Amino acid sequence: MHKKTLDTPIQFIKGVGPKIATLFGKLGVRTVEDLIFFLPRSYEDRSNLKPIAELVQSQQEIFKAEVLDVGSANPKVQKVTLGDRSGSIQAVWFNQPFLLRSLRRGMRLIVSGRVEFNHFDGVLQLTVKNYEIDTGHNQPIVPIYSLTEGLYQKKIRTVIETVIADYLELVVDLIPTSIKKKHALPELADSIKNLHFPKTVSTISKYQRRLVFDDFFFFQLGLGLRRDTVKAEKGIEFKMETATFSRRFPLPFELTTAQKRVLDEIMNDMQQSIPMSRLIQGDVGSGKTVVAALAAQVAISNGYQVALMAPTEILANQHYSKIAKYLSDSMIKLLTGTTQKKERVSELHDADLIVGTHALIEEKISFRKLGLVIVDEQHRFGVLQRSKLSQKGKNPDLLFLTATPIPRSLALTLYGDLDRSIIDEMPPGRTPVKTYYVSDHKRKGAYDFVRAEVVKGRQVFVVCPLVAESEKLDLKAATDEANVLQNNVFPELRVGLLHGRMKGEEKDQIMQDFKNKKIDILVSTTVIEVGIDIPNATIMLIEHAERFGLSQLHQLRGRIGRGSEQSYCFLFSNAKSKDARTRLKALIDSTDGFHIAEVDLKLRGPGDFAGVRQSGLPSFRVAEIVRDELILREARKAAFELGEEEREALKNEVKRRYGKFLGY
Ligand code: ADP
Ligand code: MG
Repeated sequence: MHKKTLDTPIQFIKGVGPKIATLFGKLGVRTVEDLIFFLPRSYEDRSNLKPIAELVQSQQEIFKAEVLDVGSANPKVQKVTLGDRSGSIQAVWFNQPFLLRSLRRGMRLIVSGRVEFNHFDGVLQLTVKNYEIDTGHNQPIVPIYSLTEGLYQKKIRTVIETVIADYLELVVDLIPTSIKKKHALPELADSIKNLHFPKTVSTISKYQRRLVFDDFFFFQLGLGLRRDTVKAEKGIEFKMETATFSRRFPLPFELTTAQKRVLDEIMNDMQQSIPMSRLIQGDVGSGKTVVAALAAQVAISNGYQVALMAPTEILANQHYSKIAKYLSDSMIKLLTGTTQKKERVSELHDADLIVGTHALIEEKISFRKLGLVIVDEQHRFGVLQRSKLSQKGKNPDLLFLTATPIPRSLALTLYGDLDRSIIDEMPPGRTPVKTYYVSDHKRKGAYDFVRAEVVKGRQVFVVCPLVAESEKLDLKAATDEANVLQNNVFPELRVGLLHGRMKGEEKDQIMQDFKNKKIDILVSTTVIEVGIDIPNATIMLIEHAERFGLSQLHQLRGRIGRGSEQSYCFLFSNAKSKDARTRLKALIDSTDGFHIAEVDLKLRGPGDFAGVRQSGLPSFRVAEIVRDELILREARKAAFELGEEEREALKNEVKRRYGKFLGY
């Protein structure tokens, strides 16, 4: 006899042969555990069935009826007449010709679906959503599971009944009693049973919450454990004298309240012996680099070196020149794929701060005394790359920067092991970018506007979307666009082109030319980086705006509006769909990256977000990050408040469920 475990493949369950097992496989159900947690997608309340005469048009209805007549064979539409004592109704299915063979006159059914008026036949009809043979002994609330062709509600229900009877005892409730009490969580086994076979509709949400909590709790526990590992190391206690601090670092402006708050958080971390591990989120231009430079200043004045790693050459260059300006007393070096060959690596030993690309993590690069690691747009680096850099020092403090606002629920999942600071305020004197939707027939008007602005001395970005997962095609799209603009639209202006196929030096040359006003209009794919600083560029035209994610559009738009002049963003689109228009409207109405990210998440789900694209999301059994955000927060709090001993005791379960994702 096969040993019963939760990992037992489902073909060992009574009533499940290889064929049914394959069908379940299509639904992602392979083991007993998968099956136990394969919860209904909805429920049907059969405690209160209506007679046919009382069915209401345009509503979802459910009733018992007898098959009065089975229509003639038709591959597209299948019609069956149903009746009870009060009347009759025509029921229709689509594309299920096999159905007519299984239904016979006189059969008793329970049917649900939407009641509509069929204008063609002039009768009320039911578009069937679900039906089954009425056995006479039904539960009042019936679970409805997701189906796949060849697998039906009845079968799933029977198999689940078997598995619950035979295996549920193996599901151990590991959430500590104290937490269950505090958060009013019912027992796990009860919850599972009640979700598959509810007695009343009103308690379903209570049991769902229990399972969602379970998913989040163990995942957050994993993040907590990972964090403990980092924090258990002995870090550097940086010393700082607040008085001398600002004197050494004279700023031409006052920090915003948000910058001050975040700087305080960083300074506080840096003085601790526990290594800092903090993520700074803030829109482009909110002043993250200044704050990072101040942190660097503290490390340098303590005799340590600082490394700042950026995902691209252009960004590394820009950080380098900005920071060199702020920290004029310190020795700053640049290390990228391009500079590396010229520089002698040994020179790095004298540097206070080294700005670079991933060239920084190459083996031959070593530091004298690395005390602070700053990583810009950290989601573009893998965990391994980040840790490679910090391993070049002895438990250095870590500061991550991102101008890619992601919604809180996602941040708590992807970066839940980091402390977070948010710069949610722009430096004063910025004029928000004006954003417009431009359909094709208004294109000429927009071009005229652009021409007038360029004559006034302004510069323009034109962004073409990714056409396909092919750089070649993207390149062609951008090249064609540049040609059209140069030859047909703006022959009197200077049009430039920037694309991903260019070498670092070439790209830099183009950016430099743009900065030096040798180019009026720069056409590019999305390679113009987040954070590029060209205050004189005040216009951005985005082609096929509907093809971008909202957050990405927001990022692109952040490349203008950096000077004192009014900036304009034109979203070119002919998208007819309501969904696309709603999304673009969110961008027109708001300049707050976090707000836009929340809207994006609700409309498109988490798949498109920076970070999720790279690493995916943990596979929860039941929980959904967007839908269940409130429970996520509660479960996180519970997991992080748990005592060390209790946490350790649950380690194995965390590993079992999320070990792979968390990299244990
Ligand atoms: P981020 O790194 O978040 O994109 P930066 O630190 O580069 O932002 O700042 C953007 C611009 O705003 C820079 O030119 C910087 O000098 C300026 N700046 C930053 N903080 C302030 C402030 N508090 N007041 C005025 N200007 C500021
Ligand atoms: Mg410290």
